[in-house]
Amino acid sequence: MNILILGAGGREHAFAYKILESEHCSKLFVAPGNAGTAQIAQNIDLKVTNFEAIRDFVLKENIQMLVVGPEDPLVEGITDFFTQDARLKDVLVIGPSKRGALLEGSKQRAKEFMFTHKIPTAAYQSFTGKSLDAGKEFLKTLTPPYVLKADGLAGGKGVLILEDLDEAQTELENMLTQSKFGEAGAKVVIEEFLSGIELSVFVLTDGKNYKVLPTAKDYKRIGEGDTGLNTGGMGAISPVPFADAEFMHKVEERIIKPTIDGLKREDIDYKGFVFIGLMKVGDDPFVIEYNVRMGDPETEVVLPRIKSDLVVLLQKTAQQRLDEVDVEIEAKTAVTVMLVSGGYPEEYEKGKEITGINQVEGSLVFHAGTGVKDSKTVTSGGRVLAVTSFGNDYKEALKKSYQNVDKLHFDKMYYRKDLGFDLT
Ligand code: ATP
Repeated sequence: MNILILGAGGREHAFAYKILESEHCSKLFVAPGNAGTAQIAQNIDLKVTNFEAIRDFVLKENIQMLVVGPEDPLVEGITDFFTQDARLKDVLVIGPSKRGALLEGSKQRAKEFMFTHKIPTAAYQSFTGKSLDAGKEFLKTLTPPYVLKADGLAGGKGVLILEDLDEAQTELENMLTQSKFGEAGAKVVIEEFLSGIELSVFVLTDGKNYKVLPTAKDYKRIGEGDTGLNTGGMGAISPVPFADAEFMHKVEERIIKPTIDGLKREDIDYKGFVFIGLMKVGDDPFVIEYNVRMGDPETEVVLPRIKSDLVVLLQKTAQQRLDEVDVEIEAKTAVTVMLVSGGYPEEYEKGKEITGINQVEGSLVFHAGTGVKDSKTVTSGGRVLAVTSFGNDYKEALKKSYQNVDKLHFDKMYYRKDLGFDLT
């Protein structure tokens, strides 16, 4: 079948790589893609939120499956746009409806969903500009640190964790009355701080059935020892060593089953990935957030560990027949090390030539922010390449990735050398 992937990051390159392993893929397009996807598929210069242009392309190229990488088109309703157009009724769309995508698009909605379906999460209240004073009072009843979250999408930057009450009250005011995070912060969720270690669980669901995919742990901060600014992710490890069978049993019973059940009970059309951000508090899992798509860089370790044919899994998902298939998972550990432009996540330069990719042996190199200039591969974003390797444990896998990273070069290249530091 002809398949179109929407997105331009390492996640989409990993999807393209995995989809091309399937004998069921005849032609693969990525919109807009990057220099990595251009080498294995056909890049199409389309914006992921330009639904009309995507529809026209799908009709012209007889696309039978649309895989939506990032959250924006989902939250804006691309799945509904496709299901409402009779000409597109046979196109299999991987990604939830707009109602389903609200689980990521609105933090308050996600919290309500969790409370309705008795899914363990931090206690919370939400406030708007009109209830600013009540919000300030509520903060006084909590113990620090204070967790303030802009309700809407804020590119991973809408969460503030503050030690000081005065500062928390000021920031709440900034969000609610000074548009600190624009529209996204017009409503703010204030929640109880959960102390523990984070991990992510990925689930593929057709809205009725589900399959648990590999777990992953990502490293969000720019600096070693998890210090400095938040980034899109500096690397990831799968599986997560501390997510043992007993813990995962709790996750499945307390979180995954009630989540899928909740989607069913609320009659939400959801055919796609659920990315559940968890905090392990003591031995118990609590949900920090839902994302309605795969993570980046987690996809670069999760998908390579799936041995089953991904196109078949996605097809069964879209047809609500996931119960007919099994997912086979590679037992080995996969890690990915993200190479970023110097200065990221603040100001950084682009257009730097990348060398050494052909010398890499025994690892997969997924492109993120790359492009082509004068027939050379160059940097075009903050996160540039993800180097994924397998090993019998995460240390062995990391050693392989770091050996290959040594062969790669671009001006001011930076990466974290301490991934997995918190696992021993
Ligand atoms: P992302 O960048 O992962 O998409 P986001 O902006 O959607 O993040 P959250 O995932 O809800 O927001 O929060 C961002 C980070 O803040 C979490 O990964 C976690 O480290 C921290 N965090 C959020 N809520 C809590 C909480 N209740 N207790 C402790 N830490 C929290």
